[in-house]
Amino acid sequence: MRGMTILLCLLMAVLLCVPAMAQESGLYVKKVENLPEDFIFGMDASCVIALEDAGVKYYDFAGNEEDVFKVLADNGVNYIRVRIWNNPYDAMGNGFGGGNCDIDKAVLIGQRATQYGMKLLVNFHYSDFWADPAKQMVPRAWKGMEIEEKTDAVYHFTKDCLVKLRDAGVDVGMVQVGNETNQYMCGEKTWFNIQYLMQAGAKATREIFPEALVALHFANPEKVGSYDNYAKKMDYYQVDYDVFASSYYPYWHGSLENLTETLSRIATTYNKKVMVMETSYAYTGEDTDFNGNTISDGGAIVKSYPFTVQGQANNIWDITNAMVNDTVNGIGVVYWEGTWIATGGSTWEENHELWEKYGTGWASSFATVYDPTDAGRYYGGNAVDNQALFDQWGKPLESLKVFSLMRTGNEIEPKADALEDVTIICDLNAPLELPETVNAVMTDNSKKAIPVTWDFTQEQDEKMHTGGVNQYTITGQAGGMEARCYVSMVEYNYLRDYSFEDNSTAWQWTDLKKADELYIEDKKTDSLTGTKHMHFWSAAQNSVEFTLEQQVLNLPGGKYKFTVSIMGGDAGETDIYAYVKVNGETVQKAPMKITSYGNWDTAVTDSFTCTAEDTVAVGVYVKCQGAGNGAWGKIDDALLNSVQ
Ligand code: CA
Repeated sequence: MRGMTILLCLLMAVLLCVPAMAQESGLYVKKVENLPEDFIFGMDASCVIALEDAGVKYYDFAGNEEDVFKVLADNGVNYIRVRIWNNPYDAMGNGFGGGNCDIDKAVLIGQRATQYGMKLLVNFHYSDFWADPAKQMVPRAWKGMEIEEKTDAVYHFTKDCLVKLRDAGVDVGMVQVGNETNQYMCGEKTWFNIQYLMQAGAKATREIFPEALVALHFANPEKVGSYDNYAKKMDYYQVDYDVFASSYYPYWHGSLENLTETLSRIATTYNKKVMVMETSYAYTGEDTDFNGNTISDGGAIVKSYPFTVQGQANNIWDITNAMVNDTVNGIGVVYWEGTWIATGGSTWEENHELWEKYGTGWASSFATVYDPTDAGRYYGGNAVDNQALFDQWGKPLESLKVFSLMRTGNEIEPKADALEDVTIICDLNAPLELPETVNAVMTDNSKKAIPVTWDFTQEQDEKMHTGGVNQYTITGQAGGMEARCYVSMVEYNYLRDYSFEDNSTAWQWTDLKKADELYIEDKKTDSLTGTKHMHFWSAAQNSVEFTLEQQVLNLPGGKYKFTVSIMGGDAGETDIYAYVKVNGETVQKAPMKITSYGNWDTAVTDSFTCTAEDTVAVGVYVKCQGAGNGAWGKIDDALLNSVQ
């Protein structure tokens, strides 16, 4: 008995500790004002069963192995989303991948969601594999069906699946009829046909789960007018639905302002609920499963947030706050596949075996029979493991706490979370000045300049200045993180609009003989680089004489040379030269010649020196007698470079 009492005391102590521990988070989270109690915080967990079959384990914040659905529920997730493919298997029963998500897996997932008090959001793709804006392939069993027959098939398939879920005791809260159905669905390509399929899915849902919401799901809110068009079509055909839902990946789908404005307009015009049906963000640029990721540091994307755990949470916060406070009838946010992590193999081969056997990669080679041009060719592993809310070993990331912390707030002192890279273009003959501060992205997503120490020696400095045109990366420390400075050592050109591409007023020309043509021409084949150059032509003899000149701005004191190129023809006797003027006085001249089409003559002046106070101009003087008739020519690529 005594032992029992001690055990009970220990248990109570542990239990008492739990709420206190949950509060102690390093995650900065502002309270979302006006957040309704029943606001949907969803998690698409479609791959979980396949991952577990492949040996993946999940843990809670205390480090204990735990049912991932319990971990999600304990951290404020109240909806689980699951996709259903009609038949994601080949004739031998090999799965296509992406979790091999069929109705049986949806039932298993639904039961576990229900067990922990979460509702299920059923996502019908009406395809045997991935459906998205680019791809809406008809299931093999429905191929060749006329629209009436296919409508019937959608109705019965939806109904059968929902009956299975109902009979298994699953608490279905929402049913999504089609996935990212921008203009295609289930092989149909006209709204006239698509609306029949949507109606059929909605009808089946109303019959089996009358309390559930019916959602339609679209993508690419950034495409101006597209959502208004979809909503108008749905209204015209009187499609029965409750929720107009959108994918919103911040790196692809335009601004959050555009999303909230667009969804609010639809909510108001058609009296619908709206929500974000999919979003996710990277906590790292690293890949963890030997299959490259769709979003990584190397990608040419505009990042709204750093690739950190806090950056992930800030994305979720911004979207949630936008749905709650800036959107009419915004009811929820679903995070996409936050539980889809690496299968843990230590080599590509090991993982490949698991992807093939359990369908834990985005596609297996078996998908060839259904989708030979994409999945069948590029099949492989997980391309979103760096966007999960669990690390590669199944431990929850601190960002998972954002859902519950948005209700209470956790406004701890903001600290530096990531550093912005520095980029410097440095002239080979000018000193390299590294900045004393770098911009830190703070945990509250503000920016702050913080001191930096660079690992940089005089020896390295000299090497860079004598190493010619080259790229370097200098690292340093700031706020306990590694700072990076990318330096391009260049022959810096101190002229503006050096290749006449910019439509600038940097160049002035003085036409002394009133040539027939003297202007900047846009013709790639006649340009030395780019598509534009200075063009001249005149019909009469002795009618070409002009200067082309640029006043150099902000030129530091030093030693320089001027380079410029010319080509042309029919010039006869000429007097052509590049020149440099310091304080109005010509200090350098370099002769140039016109020969024939395409033969560029490049003049380089001898060097000259100036102080920062001097006024420096560079230019070309052109005078042509003309061979029989008038002359023509082209001038391009003017360079003012420093010299040692
Ligand atoms: Ca990967």
